[in-house]
Amino acid sequence: MATVVRTYEPKFWDRFYLPAMMQGLLITFTRLFKRKDTIQYPEQKYVPQEGYRGLHRLNKNADGRIKCVACDLCQTACPAHCIDITPSATPWEEGEERYPVKFEIDLLRCIFCGFCELACPKDAIELTEIYDFAGYTRDHLIIDKEGLLKVYDVTSKGNVYRRQNRGEAISIPT
Ligand code: SF4
Ligand code: SF4
Repeated sequence: MATVVRTYEPKFWDRFYLPAMMQGLLITFTRLFKRKDTIQYPEQKYVPQEGYRGLHRLNKNADGRIKCVACDLCQTACPAHCIDITPSATPWEEGEERYPVKFEIDLLRCIFCGFCELACPKDAIELTEIYDFAGYTRDHLIIDKEGLLKVYDVTSKGNVYRRQNRGEAISIPT
């Protein structure tokens, strides 16, 4: 089917630039009294919306033990193949029989889709609000089990950025 493309024909007032300029200035002027969207990062941190998918954490039970039972479901569900788990028998007498001796996530490959969180039957892996993590080498951006458990320690006390904006000193573990 043919498509009709109409060319722009300026109207009478369009031939005078002043009305369009005044209209532009009016928009700028009204913005002066609206809430500002810019923030003074890094002194002030942006607080992402609830449900934001940032840096992962490995959750702990009430007794402080890792919740993960090394079932590999998150690894299987991961479309980026960036989770590496080595399971082992637990050293403790009671409770779960398996746990991960190694649990690594390659953050450079991760696409933060959240599939690992959805696949987990134990509520053991979760994506957090943390977005400002960085590293100088590729190896720095492979987070291990200890790092993931530290993220739990840091994020389980409330939104990290809200607390930082209130003046609390929190370092991001990567
Ligand atoms: S968020 Fe997605 S890509 Fe990243 S580790 Fe989880 S499943 Fe894999
Ligand atoms: S994080 Fe959850 S899904 Fe992944 S291995 Fe552990 S228990 Fe299984």
